[in-house]
Amino acid sequence: MSTFKAPKGTYDLLPPDSAKYLAVREAIAAPLRNSGYGYIETPGFENVELFARGVGESTDIVTKEMYVFETKGGDRLALRPETTAPVLRAVLEANLHKAGLPVKVWYSGSQYRYERPQKGRYRHFSQVGAEAIGAEDPALDAELIILADQSYRALGLQNFRILLNSLGDQECRPVYRAALQDFLRGLDLDEETLRRAEINPLRVLDDKRPDVQKQLTDAPLLRDYLCDACKAYHEEVRELITAAGVVFEDDPKLVRGLDYYTRTTFEFVHDGLGSQSAVGGGGRYDGLSEMIGGPALPSVGWALGVDRTVLALEAEGIELDIPSTTSVFAVPLGEEARRILFAKVTELRKNGVAADFSYGGKGLKAAMKGANRSGARYALILGERDLAEGVVQLKDMESGEQTAIGVNEIVAELESRLG
Ligand code: ATP
Ligand code: MG
Repeated sequence: MSTFKAPKGTYDLLPPDSAKYLAVREAIAAPLRNSGYGYIETPGFENVELFARGVGESTDIVTKEMYVFETKGGDRLALRPETTAPVLRAVLEANLHKAGLPVKVWYSGSQYRYERPQKGRYRHFSQVGAEAIGAEDPALDAELIILADQSYRALGLQNFRILLNSLGDQECRPVYRAALQDFLRGLDLDEETLRRAEINPLRVLDDKRPDVQKQLTDAPLLRDYLCDACKAYHEEVRELITAAGVVFEDDPKLVRGLDYYTRTTFEFVHDGLGSQSAVGGGGRYDGLSEMIGGPALPSVGWALGVDRTVLALEAEGIELDIPSTTSVFAVPLGEEARRILFAKVTELRKNGVAADFSYGGKGLKAAMKGANRSGARYALILGERDLAEGVVQLKDMESGEQTAIGVNEIVAELESRLG
């Protein structure tokens, strides 16, 4: 072990487990690529103000969880705690919104939040996200929910649930907000929560403490305050996803940690994850563009947590079908054999056959251990007697059967056997 350890709240992705993370990212990305979403990548850090304004001054993310630093040049930056605000910033900066709407993009990458580390809650984690920017159309909200559902199903997950709610808009939410505030003022809450009730009362509904939850049983519900336009919009989203066969639950108390959400709000929860049960979430953020100085661009998106999705797979005992990466493992015995087999391995690789090589001049026994560990279906063994005869031993690692083939037949023989 070295003197150093991964920083608190972080962990390393190491082979072979790291293959699962790649497979999860791919499973989430595939339906998006297939549905008109283009790949977008933004920097790992941004001007801190983008998050303060875009995520919201009163959110936990901004008040407690951001990694903020000042550069030598005097810029105040933050490691990104989420990627929706950066994506919108990038789209506006490049004027993508002027070339036709909606702009549909997906991303994949690291997020940083200074949180209390626990299982499923880390300071560095990874999300795959999708954003559909600049269109107010319930079909777009439905599309994103359907695609996330499809990703999870493609991974084989079953014990997840989709919670759905509407947060209203600038017309009906203020009325509800005032009603909720009146209600909260009458409760027995601590100082900080009372303060939160004044700044962002909806977020009190999200309080996880049982003594708070108990007092919220009779809280007014947004669903009883929705204006006609929001009601119709929400009804249409529900009908579209129902028609697509997506099962969901109405959750009238569902709010989200970010301030910019309007109307459609949803969360994917998994029942095998204990208290860190949210595997993903998203919704409409019609006001965000204006909050960061852009034009009105009603938008919808989600972010799915890769780390928690992997935990969900483990909770359900799902083994992803990840094919062994190496098909052929070459074992040279001696200097000349080394040169010949190395050239053959290079040729195999060029022909698309996944091949690896025993490095370090190992003897037969140690080299065959490497062949076993690689998971290769075939080993190619070239010893001195083989060299003299112009052959190589081709060993089927499954059956143990070994045959001599001509050195010049290696590529064709393996291509046909693996084909
Ligand atoms: P939570 O309520 O668990 O804190 P959140 O509402 O902060 O989640 P979002 O900001 O909506 O989460 O992020 C979307 C997804 O990213 C979450 O559903 C989760 O899977 C993942 N995620 C968020 N924070 C973390 C974290 N600290 N560690 C690992 N995954 C996380
Ligand atoms: Mg959080």
